[in-house]
Amino acid sequence: MFKLLIVGNWKMQGTVESAVALASQLGEQWNSNKSVEMIIFPPFIHISAVAATIAETAISLGGQNVSEYPSGAYTGEISAEMLVDQGCKYALVGHSERRALFNESSETVAEKFKAAQSAGLIPILCVGESLQQRQDGQTVEVVSAQIAAVMNVAGLQNVCRAVIAYEPIWAVGTGETASPEQAQQVHSAIRAQLGEAGEATPLLYGGSVKAANAAELFAQPDIDGGLVGGASLEANEFLNIAKLIEA
Ligand code: PEP
Repeated sequence: MFKLLIVGNWKMQGTVESAVALASQLGEQWNSNKSVEMIIFPPFIHISAVAATIAETAISLGGQNVSEYPSGAYTGEISAEMLVDQGCKYALVGHSERRALFNESSETVAEKFKAAQSAGLIPILCVGESLQQRQDGQTVEVVSAQIAAVMNVAGLQNVCRAVIAYEPIWAVGTGETASPEQAQQVHSAIRAQLGEAGEATPLLYGGSVKAANAAELFAQPDIDGGLVGGASLEANEFLNIAKLIEA
């Protein structure tokens, strides 16, 4: 059995002081746990300080984005090797905010996925549909095309070695959450798309997860944990969500 995952995406929030304070609160209260892994994604500039803060804890670290290029004249970019060098184990690729606000295509996301994995990081591939696409009945088609784009570049086996996070765009940062049934339906379609090779691929749900709605989502058979944005910025709320995965 693979580990269930609780992921905190801090986005572009906080100062080094607040990041260290949050990391140390989590570190003090999160017990090393055989069945659930906690992963936090601070802003790049706080990664080094957070890495030092959680060094003696069971919490893992990741980068919120990663360059598709290994090194060179790419001003402002952060490579996968740099993330590894800072102690990161994971990288988010294809977060809906990157796709929508920074025009990342599925092809670019696939290159980022490959770059991350080649450097030894575990990519967390984010996929999800817009409200319009859901209303038009295209949810599974859209999600499956986003995953297929990565499979085309990285291969099925490599996608199955990663983590996939289903994050409906209309639920990210909006306070709206997919119902447990809506989420399970998409997770089950993703599981079917991966086939036998993906039986042990962790599939996360993300989109306004909080302690009040997490239990029902995590109870679904194909939901193996959560990707949490806003609610991960408050230590107690995030820890409460994490405990619901263990339950
Ligand atoms: C996210 O950042 O991936 C996310 C799901 O954010 P929120 O929990 O705030 O919707």
